[in-house]
Amino acid sequence: MRHCCQFKADEIYYLEETSLYVNRKLSIGFCPICEKPVAELVEISFTGAVQRLRESGIKANELMLSVMNQISYSMRECNYKKFKSKPYGWKYGVNKSVKINGKEYFRQYAKDFYGNKELIKVS
Ligand SMILES: [Zn+2]
Repeated sequence: MRHCCQFKADEIYYLEETSLYVNRKLSIGFCPICEKPVAELVEISFTGAVQRLRESGIKANELMLSVMNQISYSMRECNYKKFKSKPYGWKYGVNKSVKINGKEYFRQYAKDFYGNKELIKVS
């Protein structure tokens, strides 16, 4: 992957094919120089052209979220069993508000892209 320099992806997700694109791959990692998350989507169109979309920071997260429903499997999926209950890999935060007796409480969860979640904060 590339951002400020060339670096190795932390994880590679293989995505389902669409009617327009095949060999779809999403690589994610953290730039070792600026420490921003970087996501790179590479796909090959039915005409054979390679399309590359690279985003960093918050936009990398958005790119990841936009394709998360299309993930078929990941490079590390075979290791997944070791981590069954806790989120691992690329995590994203989800805030949920709960009303109890008219008072509003917030619960913040960390979620991964395998359906695992962990409560990290209650306020
Ligand atoms: Zn960078």
